[in-house]
Amino acid sequence: MSLAVFGSVGLDDIITPEASVEGVVGGSAVYFSLAASLFTDVRLAANVGGDFPAKAWDTLRARGTDFEGLQKFEDKPTFRWSGRYEGAMNEAETLRTDLNVLIEQPLVPESYKDSKYLFLANMAPVTQLEILQSFPNATAFADTMNLWIEHERETLERLLELIYGLVLNEGEARMLTGEHNLLRAGAALQEMGPEVIIIKKGEHGAFLFTPDGRFGLPAYPVENVVDPTGAGDSFAGGLMGALAEADDFSMDSLRRAMAYGTVCASVTVEAFSTAGLEAASRTVIQDRYDELRDFLRFS
Ligand code: AMP
Repeated sequence: MSLAVFGSVGLDDIITPEASVEGVVGGSAVYFSLAASLFTDVRLAANVGGDFPAKAWDTLRARGTDFEGLQKFEDKPTFRWSGRYEGAMNEAETLRTDLNVLIEQPLVPESYKDSKYLFLANMAPVTQLEILQSFPNATAFADTMNLWIEHERETLERLLELIYGLVLNEGEARMLTGEHNLLRAGAALQEMGPEVIIIKKGEHGAFLFTPDGRFGLPAYPVENVVDPTGAGDSFAGGLMGALAEADDFSMDSLRRAMAYGTVCASVTVEAFSTAGLEAASRTVIQDRYDELRDFLRFS
């Protein structure tokens, strides 16, 4: 089933305790699409500058991604993000954000408007709302961040009333609801509108809240975390890709999709940039999924 994603294409500078890289391929839409395209057809929409390497699209092209919504600004630089991780690398400290081409409105191609599934990656809620208007029939999920919770709360609350699902991390869930306990935060978020809430807890997994019940899943265990950048977007891509492939929003389908999400994130964090997801195949993902199920089995 067709899945459209709106988000960022970026060049990232990343510092970890072990190593640093500069100007590597990143961005929410890139990580999301690389994960989702392992499951279903992806329609990518994002702004990109003239400096973004064309070769970076090879894997997505081979996986059948639709690039009609990729809007290229030849004379402008791509979005740039610099971040640093310390210690257990649980959270990125943003050192610098240059929006560059992200200031421009995203393009919504006519051909995307019949997408059955839609993911609005982290961006200004007003832009998310505008995009959503072009997809009246889509099942829409969105992500957000602390910047918008703090400064664009009213618009974000309007968005929450219109979307089907919200994927956010634990800090954001606490900030948005004022609830420290995540079970209470999940319930409070459901009150704000979305049917489905997914609270990500980094290496500790994720919680799912639906009208039919709750579910908690540990993360796929990774021994060697190299770079956590993109883990959240890879999780969302695996989740939405698996849901779109199954075309089923039952509790069982959501549980399976969460497992695919954490497996996609595990592949991302084992290497810098998108190398992990680019090298991954559906077989690798399925093997890890089966391994995770064995890991969690008890009676
Ligand atoms: P994640 O680690 O899953 O939250 O995603 C990290 C990716 O999001 C990086 O590759 C960045 O290029 C991108 N990113 C970071 N901050 C922003 C932002 N404010 N808007 C859009 N994309 C961002």
